[in-house]
Amino acid sequence: MDEADTINEEPRAIGNRPYTLSPKFKSLYELLIEKNKVMNLTAITEEREVEALHFRDSLAVLEWIPEGAFSVVDVGTGAGFPGLPIAIARPELRVTLLDATEKKVEFLKDVAAQLDLANVTCVCARAEDYAKTARASFDFAVARALAKLNALCELCMPLVKPGGAFIALKSAQTDEEIADAARAIHTLGGELEAVTDYTLPGTDIPRRAVVIRQKTAAPEQYPRGFAKIKKQPL
Ligand code: SAH
Repeated sequence: MDEADTINEEPRAIGNRPYTLSPKFKSLYELLIEKNKVMNLTAITEEREVEALHFRDSLAVLEWIPEGAFSVVDVGTGAGFPGLPIAIARPELRVTLLDATEKKVEFLKDVAAQLDLANVTCVCARAEDYAKTARASFDFAVARALAKLNALCELCMPLVKPGGAFIALKSAQTDEEIADAARAIHTLGGELEAVTDYTLPGTDIPRRAVVIRQKTAAPEQYPRGFAKIKKQPL
């Protein structure tokens, strides 16, 4: 067995750290629900559920982003998860919200302006194209619910500086997906650092964070076009 396959810590209670949801989260909830009436942003709309499944789930990422980190890119951020809660909780971090869908990015720009989030930059682009101009320029890339881990690594890791990390938020049933990504992680200059299972605070919902350390910059030929990434995953 590959050594990386053995890295799987016991579930732990992430989020028991005292994150207090600031009034900005309340405003974010209201903006999300208002816009959700005219476009499809979230299937979850009940306040407690949005807090647990979007806000707290997103904030779990902070566990791996140390003080002093400078920049984070959220790839395929959609309605802003996990990027917006990260930006609200950590105003000193420069957070880039990247999504290929123009309407979603318009929503994100509006939220950033209304919540006065000076640390947020919204970019409408496909990750494959964005890597051409923003290669190896972020301390961290994060992503939730965008693609299988092998494809996700190819979209995200080229954006990460050597020494930085890519953190994927996943469901707990992803052992096979993680094993299947071993070659992609290696090819893209990374190393599987941790697979951490935890339950969302206030719920018994199991979640998993996959942390991949960027050892060297990803080779220039990656990411390939999306069709290639899907058809012939690394
Ligand atoms: N991360 C969010 C949204 C997931 S849905 C969440 O967890 O709630 C996936 C999002 O990724 C969609 O908004 C879609 O527009 C975007 N997307 C899909 N492929 C992409 C690509 N190649 N580059 C950038 N964004 C992409």
